[in-house]
Amino acid sequence: MKSSAGGQRVVIVGGGLAGLAAATALAPHGFAVTILEARPRLGGRASSFLDPATQQLIDTCQHVTLGCCTQFAHFCRTVGIDHYLQPQPTLWFMTRDGRVSAFRAGRLPPPLHLAGSFLGAHFLTLAEKLRIAWGLACLRRAAPDDDPPFVEWLRRHGQTPRTVQRFWGVVLTSALNETPERVGLRYARKVFLDGFLTDPAGSVVSLPTVPLARLYGPELDDWLARHGVAVRLGCAARAFQIAARRVEAVELRHGETIPAEWFISAVPFDRLLDLLPEAVVGAYPSFADLRQLETSPITSVHIWFDRPITDWPHVVLIDCLGQWVFNRGATGPGEYYVQVVVSAARALRDLGHAEIQRRIVAELRELFPKARQATLRRARAITEHTATFSAVPGVDRWRPPARTPMSNLFLAGDWTATGWPATMEGAVRSGYAAAAALRDRASAYSG
Ligand SMILES: Cc1cc2nc3c(=O)[nH]c(=O)nc-3n(C[C@H](O)[C@H](O)[C@H](O)COP(=O)(O)OP(=O)(O)OC[C@H]3O[C@@H](n4cnc5c(N)ncnc54)[C@H](O)[C@@H]3O)c2cc1C
Repeated sequence: MKSSAGGQRVVIVGGGLAGLAAATALAPHGFAVTILEARPRLGGRASSFLDPATQQLIDTCQHVTLGCCTQFAHFCRTVGIDHYLQPQPTLWFMTRDGRVSAFRAGRLPPPLHLAGSFLGAHFLTLAEKLRIAWGLACLRRAAPDDDPPFVEWLRRHGQTPRTVQRFWGVVLTSALNETPERVGLRYARKVFLDGFLTDPAGSVVSLPTVPLARLYGPELDDWLARHGVAVRLGCAARAFQIAARRVEAVELRHGETIPAEWFISAVPFDRLLDLLPEAVVGAYPSFADLRQLETSPITSVHIWFDRPITDWPHVVLIDCLGQWVFNRGATGPGEYYVQVVVSAARALRDLGHAEIQRRIVAELRELFPKARQATLRRARAITEHTATFSAVPGVDRWRPPARTPMSNLFLAGDWTATGWPATMEGAVRSGYAAAAALRDRASAYSG
């Protein structure tokens, strides 16, 4: 393909959302893009597995997106998969006693659009609501770059263990995959501002109506093929070959070497450290500092009962082991599937999957009366041990920008300096940023 970029070759290593977004932002500009993906499929961590019992695709872990995730929405529109995202205007919050409160945006202008639901929430006292409202008002005024431990900030701003446990922690643990004790103010503030206080559309959760492997499936493949993007699955990179601060080629695990004018690394940060020569990592803090990033696990428990256990499409749990229940409905004759997600799942680490399943099933039986009569058909727990990087205080000093000290190598990935937590939105933003930086440099060279 000849055009503005004259068919210059770009090799993108990693076919997750970051690499895919970069490809969509380069191919239409005339770059000859190749994606190298180690696994036999695209989509990276946003993945599904084939359930051996039913041969159906099941998401490794339910992914949700919020209305404030505008670049992810742009990516979905670009490749024609936005119609698979279904907004959920109401969120339901349930306590151990089975009581439920609905949250949805009302008529008041932001930041008061959720005030009606908030005032009606059964799981907080009026005094706690006023305390939280004060905390939110202070959060809006907090300096954007200030990043002390959030839990200390909450204490300084009048929050009690109960408001942390029943409000701040419920929101943050799902949004950041970290507990309030471990996150910094900066990303906590971002979650509440972008998600809840700025735009009524920002807080609307959307769920894919198809499994993730189907979401990032035929339409995406078609788009890439139509735009001349070569996708090589099952193709793991082993090393970048670097000379004079330039990547000459990428060497694959099976021995092949692929030269190109430009490279984008869109792999997780620990994988990037494996691809770079040790001397290069040691020479540049932006690479060496990646060793400072920490990760946090997510456990999802997949459960099939012989009957429906609830009519709610999804429920956020308060004061429970499970944090979010997704009701995925019938998957076969006499088989109804629910998925329970536990973010920041460090506390489950030593339990073993059989015990985690047992506890989650027992909890569902306590919460949902219909589950007490239901027969458990089967269950499966999956833990992603390095699900996302941890937004600990000061984390941004370790997150590198798209440009690197190598003149033709750019970085993408949800862990790069996007200003966003590890989400599909962060991954897409990183891919767009890497593509923009590459295009800038390519036009500077040709100009
Ligand atoms: C359990 C779980 C639940 C989540 N829930 C949500 C959610 O609800 N909402 C949300 O927005 N986000 C969620 N996320 C986060 C979201 O999935 C990630 O932020 C996003 O998918 C990251 O995309 P990425 O492209 O940066 O990285 P990845 O998806 O990790 O992509 C990197 C790709 O590089 C490939 N690769 C690695 N090494 C090599 C190599 N040597 N050669 C070639 N290829 C290689 C990998 O196979 C992978 O496909 C969740 C993540 C997990 C794990």
